[in-house]
Amino acid sequence: MSFDINNHKQVNPPPRLLMGPGPINADPRVLRAMSAQLVGQYDPSMTDYMTETMALYRQVFKTENRWTLLIDGTSRAAIEACLVSALAPGDKVLVPVFGRFGHLLTEIAGRCGAEVHTIEKEWGDVFSPDEIEDAIKRVQPKMLAVVQGDTSTTMLQPLENLGEICQRYGVLFYTDVTASIGGNPLEADTWQLDAISGGLQKCLAGPSGSGPITLSDRFVTEVRKRHHVEAGIRADHHVDGAGERIRSNYFDLPMIMDYWGEERLNHHTEATSMLYCARECARILLQEGLDNAIARHQLHGNAMARGAEQLNLKLFGNQSHKMNNVVGVYIPENVDGEAVRSAMLNDFGIEIGTSFGPLHGKIWRIGTMGYNARKDAVLVTLSALENVLRRAGHKLPAGGAIDAAMDVYANARLQEGQ
Ligand SMILES: *Cc1c(COP(=O)(O)O)cnc(C)c1O
Repeated sequence: MSFDINNHKQVNPPPRLLMGPGPINADPRVLRAMSAQLVGQYDPSMTDYMTETMALYRQVFKTENRWTLLIDGTSRAAIEACLVSALAPGDKVLVPVFGRFGHLLTEIAGRCGAEVHTIEKEWGDVFSPDEIEDAIKRVQPKMLAVVQGDTSTTMLQPLENLGEICQRYGVLFYTDVTASIGGNPLEADTWQLDAISGGLQKCLAGPSGSGPITLSDRFVTEVRKRHHVEAGIRADHHVDGAGERIRSNYFDLPMIMDYWGEERLNHHTEATSMLYCARECARILLQEGLDNAIARHQLHGNAMARGAEQLNLKLFGNQSHKMNNVVGVYIPENVDGEAVRSAMLNDFGIEIGTSFGPLHGKIWRIGTMGYNARKDAVLVTLSALENVLRRAGHKLPAGGAIDAAMDVYANARLQEGQ
C-alpha cells in the first residue's frame, strides 16, 4: 500500500479508566506541566528546575542524599543505571526473587557481568529478614538488590530491617520502588538504603519515561571509583578512577552526576518535558503530604479489596504483605478471564490487569493508584465488574461490592470523627 499522510490522524486516544497495575491515568496537572515550552539545556531556568527537582525528590525519598536526580528513560533505565554503575564484572550480588521484577534485577545484574546469586519465594509471599541475612552470610555479596513492591504478585517486601543487616556485613543495599513509592511507606535514610530507583507511572500519577533515583555517600564512593570522563568534554583536572570503566555510557552514574552537579559537564540532553513532568509529580505528592497519600492508597486499595471479595472473588497472596495500591484476585473457574477484561474495556472503558509467568491466566490485578486512587474510580470499577461477571455467569450477591466499599469509606469517616 502506498503511503498517504492523510491516513494519519492527530493522536486521539480513546477515553479509558486505567485500573490495572500501571500505567494509570496521569494527573491533568502533570499533563499540563509536560506541555510547557522548552528552554536551553544550560538556561538558568533549566538548571534551576533540575536543582529544584533534586530537592523535591529528597523529600519524596525521605533522604538527605545530595545525589538525588532523574535518569532519563523508564524505570528499567533507572534500575540499569544503579546496577551497571555499581557492579563490575565478577562482583557478587544477591537478589531475593518473589516475582517478575526480581527476575528482572537478576537479568540486568547478569548482563553487567556480575556473579548473581538468587533466593526464591513462591509468588504471593515475601522474605523474612532472617532468610535474607542467612543468604548474605553464605554469598557475601557486594550488593543486595531487592524489589520493594512487585506488581506482578502485588506483594510488598518489608525493607525496614534489611539496611541494618547490610551495614553489618558491608553490603550495598539497592531497591526498586517503582510500583510502591508514593503509596506505601519508604524511608531511605532511616532504613539505611544505599541506592533506590523509581518511576512515575504508578502511585506518582505520571507517565513512564523518567526514573528518579537517590544514592547514599557510601554508594557514590563506590561508583566514583569507576569515574572516567569521556573524550571530547574531558579537561586537564579530570582524573580517572582506579576501578574498571562502567560498561554503559548512557547509564554511567559518575558522568550523570557531573551533569547534575556543579560542574554541569555535558552528558545527555536532559529530557526537558519529562523533567517538568517529574517535578510536577513530586510537587503534587508533597503538597498532598506523603502520609496522606499513603493513607489514601490504603483506603481506596482496601475499598477495592473488600468490594472484590463481595464479587465472590478470592484474593491472591499473603494479605498481610499486600501493596496498598494493587490487589490480585483469582479469575473464577468457568469464567473466561480475557473475555471479562475485554468487556470491561470495550463496554465500560475500564482497564484491569492480566498477569505474568506462573500467574498468567490465574489472576487479574486491579490497581488503585496515583490519580486513580479515588472513590469514584473504585465504585465505577466495582459496578462494572459486577455487571460483567454476572453476565458471564458468575454467582455473586447483587450490590454487595458497592455496599462493602461504601462501608470502608463510612468507617474511615467515623475514625476521622466526621
Ligand atoms: C511497573 C514496574 C516497573 C516498570 O518498569 P518500566 O521500565 O517503567 O516499564 C519496574 N519495576 C517494578 C517493580 C514495577 O512494578
